[in-house]
Amino acid sequence: LKLAGDKSKKSVIKVGDVCLGGKEIVLIGGPCAVESSIQMQKAAAAVRRSGGKILRGGVFKPRTSPYSFQGLGLEGVNYLVQAAREEGLLCVTEVIDLRSLEMVVDKVDLLQIGARNMQNFELLKLAGKVNKPIILKRGLSATIEEWLLAAEYIMAAGNSQVILCERGIRTFEPSTRNTLDLSAVGVAKELSHLPVIVDPSHAAGRRDLIASLSKAAVASGADGLLIEMHPNPEEAMSDGPQSLTPEQFMTLAQDLELVAQSV
Ligand code: PEP
Ligand code: MN
Repeated sequence: LKLAGDKSKKSVIKVGDVCLGGKEIVLIGGPCAVESSIQMQKAAAAVRRSGGKILRGGVFKPRTSPYSFQGLGLEGVNYLVQAAREEGLLCVTEVIDLRSLEMVVDKVDLLQIGARNMQNFELLKLAGKVNKPIILKRGLSATIEEWLLAAEYIMAAGNSQVILCERGIRTFEPSTRNTLDLSAVGVAKELSHLPVIVDPSHAAGRRDLIASLSKAAVASGADGLLIEMHPNPEEAMSDGPQSLTPEQFMTLAQDLELVAQSV
């Protein structure tokens, strides 16, 4: 596996006043999908109160079923950005193709490439041409090597600001939506110089496991967490069962401080 960059020098990716890959454990939170302006205002306020730094929200949703909510598109980006700015947060949204990338690249602070597009090589090359950090999720059944080579596509095309995100892989175990591979954090950090964050939400698919998996991720050396949180998970248009309430998110953020201090 031949990777660009010197892995003895860990990359620290600076976005605004947030550093990914440094000493700080960066908390990213927000709903799966942007649904309304008020929803995003509530989510942003909860992220800020909990000490989170980055607001998430999808507007181009790569849903398993074509009949599921596909996202608000450009209208949703504006809700995301406005809510983030009002609370002094950065924001991230997923891009799925050239069109969506062009629509959001000058509005948001980071871009996300989702698990389903991890090996969309043309999209990776486009992400290599922008001057924004890219959160690259691990593919549903991608090996760590395939994931790192996907990151390499972005870097080889000119953008070295890549943040790896472990979000669970497909296994034979049906109790959880995916299986969180926490060894991937250490392995990816050993093989590359890139920051690695963990998304326990898409791994577990259920709210009750998010706190323990998040703490384990921090203990495993993760540089940050990406967690789904919705002002009213019961009414979420996507991924409600795995979304924390603002109160649960706040409690978790406090508990994570303690774990971070002890590692
Ligand atoms: C998401 O973060 O909303 C998402 C769709 O995640 P993944 O690509 O990991 O499934
Ligand atoms: Mn989701």
